[in-house]
Amino acid sequence: MTNIYVFRLGHRFSRDKRITTHIALVARAFGAKAVVFDIEDNRVKDSVYKICDKWGYGPSGDFEIFYEKNWRKFIKDFDGIKIHLTMYGFSLSKVKDKILKDIKDKNILIVVGGQKVPGEIYNLVDYNVGIGNQPHSEVGALAVFLHELNAKPLDENEWNCKKNQGKIRIFPQKKGKKVAKR
Ligand code: SAM
Repeated sequence: MTNIYVFRLGHRFSRDKRITTHIALVARAFGAKAVVFDIEDNRVKDSVYKICDKWGYGPSGDFEIFYEKNWRKFIKDFDGIKIHLTMYGFSLSKVKDKILKDIKDKNILIVVGGQKVPGEIYNLVDYNVGIGNQPHSEVGALAVFLHELNAKPLDENEWNCKKNQGKIRIFPQKKGKKVAKR
């Protein structure tokens, strides 16, 4: 696996600011390269970039958020393995080994939806994967999937942003909080 991209499909401007922000924060913390949205919402972008300014732009130093109006074309043309997280898909335990083989040296696009995704998405991707087959959350599904792919949440030693390192860093403690300027 080389770069991880997350596509957030079906962002609702009026309701989803917080949950979409959380999708982006999970993606960033697990070392993704970018999060793509289908609806322009600068409130989300601003709040995620504020966190990046403070804590860094990810291991490669260039984590980004961008909008892609033509989501069909973007997903269709994506150069890599495309995975849609949905409770209707084969359970991760069933397809995990095959996915791990497939994504070797390839980019990966993970699509997460909102209330209801357009039916055609199921055919645009290489895999429809269920994190279990009950409805829960796009944030939860994304985190579990990334973890199972061995894209772990990076701890302080691994969070070595090559550039755009942010302003402060954490020194993990048994108790209490210790931070210092970079
Ligand atoms: N009907 C939806 C579905 O297809 O999974 C559940 C809607 S849920 C509010 C919003 C998003 O969370 C879904 O589009 C999907 O990406 C993710 N999600 C929820 N439950 C999931 C599960 N069990 N496995 C994988 N993804 C899930």
